[in-house]
Amino acid sequence: MKYDAIIIGGGAAGLYLAAHLNPLKVLVLEKNSRLGLKLLASGSGQCNLTHGGDIKDFYSHYGEHKNFVKFALSHHDNKAVIRYFESNGLKCVEREDGKVFPATLRSTDVLEVLLKGIQFNRNAKIIKEVKISEIAIDMEDSSYLVRTDSGDFIAKNLIVATGGMTYSRLGTTGDGYAIAEKLGHKVVTAKPGLTSVHCDDRNLLELSGLTFKNIHLSMVKDGQKAKKFSGDLLLTHFGLSGPIILDNSRSLEKGDRLEIQFVDSTFDALEKLFLEIAGSNGEKPLAFFMNKLDIPDRLKPVILGAAGVKKELRLSEVTKPVRKEIIKHLTAYPVTIQSLSGEATAMVSVGGVALEEVSAKHLMSRIRSGLYFIGEVLDIDGDSGGYNLQWAFSSAKTVADHIIKNNTQ
Ligand SMILES: Cc1cc2nc3c(=O)[nH]c(=O)nc-3n(C[C@H](O)[C@H](O)[C@H](O)COP(=O)(O)OP(=O)(O)OC[C@H]3O[C@@H](n4cnc5c(N)ncnc54)[C@H](O)[C@@H]3O)c2cc1C
Repeated sequence: MKYDAIIIGGGAAGLYLAAHLNPLKVLVLEKNSRLGLKLLASGSGQCNLTHGGDIKDFYSHYGEHKNFVKFALSHHDNKAVIRYFESNGLKCVEREDGKVFPATLRSTDVLEVLLKGIQFNRNAKIIKEVKISEIAIDMEDSSYLVRTDSGDFIAKNLIVATGGMTYSRLGTTGDGYAIAEKLGHKVVTAKPGLTSVHCDDRNLLELSGLTFKNIHLSMVKDGQKAKKFSGDLLLTHFGLSGPIILDNSRSLEKGDRLEIQFVDSTFDALEKLFLEIAGSNGEKPLAFFMNKLDIPDRLKPVILGAAGVKKELRLSEVTKPVRKEIIKHLTAYPVTIQSLSGEATAMVSVGGVALEEVSAKHLMSRIRSGLYFIGEVLDIDGDSGGYNLQWAFSSAKTVADHIIKNNTQ
């Protein structure tokens, strides 16, 4: 039998696509013994499936790839994704921070909706624990032959939905990159994304668990200030994490310096405040000034330690260089990145199938007709907050509509 579509990968994107191809003849090939493992792990098992708000506000959450993602995202937006799950009996809820979850807070329920959608199509088939050995192209009728240990299969359309290369224990080992290259596509070398950073500032590591709301960070590369970020920061036992780090990790590298602005004030304004307070309270200890600042108590000795002073020092005894060191650590606390968390724990891959050879409108290869790439296998990575699953779903639905349209012409 010739299939209308063979989908390689039964994850978020592959399953969403298969669920939208009814009544076409569809085959999903999944290497794991279970489908949708990463979907199940998403949002700590609660599945943050998209984000609230206007879809236009999504575009800037995909690094440099705003112009590419906007076609698929606007074709099938966050409201359409929510509508899909709700019309299939799974109510969704938006949290105060904009993250959207199934009301049951169970990713298994999200997977169940997708599997029911596929079962509804009597022409759909799923083969699990499959090993693909070769993909060949029949030039005469431009169809795809997929050779596997479960048999050989032919289809008019081939969709690569194999995800990225991080969290490889869930089956994502970058296979799609090799498939794309074999079929003539360029691949941007992938690295871990949505990842934390490690540093060896032992005093800061002691503060593990402290969080800072909407803090500012400057990134310094090769001694030059390169970027400023804002967001929520979490100090961990190995370094820095939280949305501000995860969402900007795509541009961070070992050796970069991050300068944390713990106090929401400029250097000059804070120095002026210090001089005012010290001017009329010279006999008071340094702790008197620190207590005027809106920062956690646990952070205060760390700042003074990093500046090389004791909190008992009288304000009148603080010399100009010491004062400047204290203010520097309050407004631009320097942290050098020793490493980024690796492939085992990074939530997405930065890099993948190069976008210039894929049509943004239909996600079809510009090199071979009938070949599509969806989800994380492409060189697309979103911020935390539901942007990656939204991309998986939007790209899948865009391809479903293109295949169905071509099939009926
Ligand atoms: C711990 C964790 C939490 C996350 N939480 C969220 C979240 O809350 N919200 C959010 O938006 N994003 C989240 N993400 C990211 C999101 O899960 C992924 O971006 C998304 O699942 C990508 O979908 P995909 O279908 O492209 O790839 P995947 O879901 O990874 O699916 C790819 C599938 O292809 C299969 N496969 C690979 N190679 C082959 C092969 N050779 N043959 C056959 N099958 C193959 C894999 O086994 C896998 O089943 C999280 C990621 C992780 C790791």
